[in-house]
Amino acid sequence: MANPKFFFAFYLALLLAPLVCAWAASAWRDRRLRAPLMARTVFRCIECLQFYEADEPVEKMPCPICGRQNEKLRM
Ligand SMILES: [Zn+2]
Repeated sequence: MANPKFFFAFYLALLLAPLVCAWAASAWRDRRLRAPLMARTVFRCIECLQFYEADEPVEKMPCPICGRQNEKLRM
């Protein structure tokens, strides 16, 4: 005769497997989408409140509109 505890554990695993797969897939997708964003440096001009970005990691960069030197945005 089969053990009811075994069936409980079996169905529980069957129920949780898709959830674990969905979580792993979403975590992988998030990391893949965020990696290029994290590599960029974002600036916000204090003068004209414009957002702009640099492809290389620099601390300061002039605003493309007014030319004011701004420090990078910290997130
Ligand atoms: Zn500006």
